[in-house]
Amino acid sequence: MSVLLSEPSKNTKVDSNDNLPTAAYAAAAAKAALGPITIGRRAPRAHEVLIDILYCGICHSDIHQAREEWGGSIFPMVPGHEITGVVSRAGSEVTKFKVGDKVGVGCFVDSCRHCANCKSGHEQYCLEGMTPTYNGVERDGVTPTQGGYSTQIVVDENYVLRIPSGLPLDAAAPLLCAGITLYSPLMHWKAGRGKNVAIVGLGGLGHMGVKIGHALGAEVTVLSQSLKKQADGKRMGADHFYATSDPQTFEKLKGYFHLIINTVSSGIDWDQYASLLKTDGTMVVVGIPEGKTPVGAFPLIEQRRSIAGSMIGGIKETQEMLDFCAKHNIACDIELIPIQKVNEAYERVVRSDVRYRFVIDMKSLKGAGTSPAI
Ligand code: NAP
Ligand code: ZN
Ligand code: ZN
Repeated sequence: MSVLLSEPSKNTKVDSNDNLPTAAYAAAAAKAALGPITIGRRAPRAHEVLIDILYCGICHSDIHQAREEWGGSIFPMVPGHEITGVVSRAGSEVTKFKVGDKVGVGCFVDSCRHCANCKSGHEQYCLEGMTPTYNGVERDGVTPTQGGYSTQIVVDENYVLRIPSGLPLDAAAPLLCAGITLYSPLMHWKAGRGKNVAIVGLGGLGHMGVKIGHALGAEVTVLSQSLKKQADGKRMGADHFYATSDPQTFEKLKGYFHLIINTVSSGIDWDQYASLLKTDGTMVVVGIPEGKTPVGAFPLIEQRRSIAGSMIGGIKETQEMLDFCAKHNIACDIELIPIQKVNEAYERVVRSDVRYRFVIDMKSLKGAGTSPAI
């Protein structure tokens, strides 16, 4: 999909018939700040579309990977997997999209297409491994993928989503990861009327969980570190809001929830949260802290409780989520920033100081405009 044409911060341009020089921001190494780079996107092949990227959300996973907190990062890295934009060119065999269509790209841009999971629409669980939008290699095994902190991207039409007309492209961008990451487990574990659902952590993922859980008819409780975000949580649809810094919270809510979705990006005591589940309740882990989390047997065996995990969603389910959000008037609460503020934004995300997702206005990379400072 992309060939690197220059190292970050040199920002030299190389042109050729095969490569479309593309302005981007990249991390050169794990400890490096992100800076400008020019990458090459190929001209779209028969089944691919070229997308003009207008917006890209900043997911905490971008930070984990750019800082190599999960190990195995590939540098230079152009992060970004919450992409919205407009199709600017379509390959000769493309049937699903045409030039001018509003589209999105999420966390993966390809998969094996023949395993049982790919065939059943769960490409995120591809048995041969999905192709991540960045920090991965294409299916040729060698070409690095580069993500959405860039002005354009080339993607196979089968891995592109349609953005419904009712959704603004900036506030829709984080749906492509944060939205689907919460929608998928809420649907799978049947959140709805009569179900007590807790969302742990009111960040990018968490705030989507509150909105979607509420729209599904569940009783939604936010478990946040403090009460600072309480008014926001209630406005988003939370029925209850508790501070986890208050030990009474864990006494009061013991055995209360059918479902807990844990979006926290750092290590927390899973046993303590599991004890808040009813008999047969499930805590779904979607947050991905750096290290391992110890789990004791007692909180699980006592009430036949489960701890499960869930990762984003397949293409079909992601489209379903976008249509659901458009129908229920759900979008993300965003702070729009120019790309030059990305390093500052990373620091604020790490401090849980984001309301509730940073979205990069890609005009700032083209030098065509600015966004409010953060
Ligand atoms: P985020 O915006 O930073 O939100 C995480 C929230 O967790 C914070 O806002 C904060 O909420 C809470 N939190 C942070 N540190 C904490 C601590 N030490 N103790 C307790 N709570 C803490 O991040 P995000 O983009 O939503 O992503 C969250 C995690 O999910 C990341 O690890 C990310 O990599 C992962 N992720 C997973 C998937 C998947 O498919 N499973 C997809 C995307 C992202 P409060 O201020 O309310 O306490
Ligand atoms: Zn993400
Ligand atoms: Zn597969």
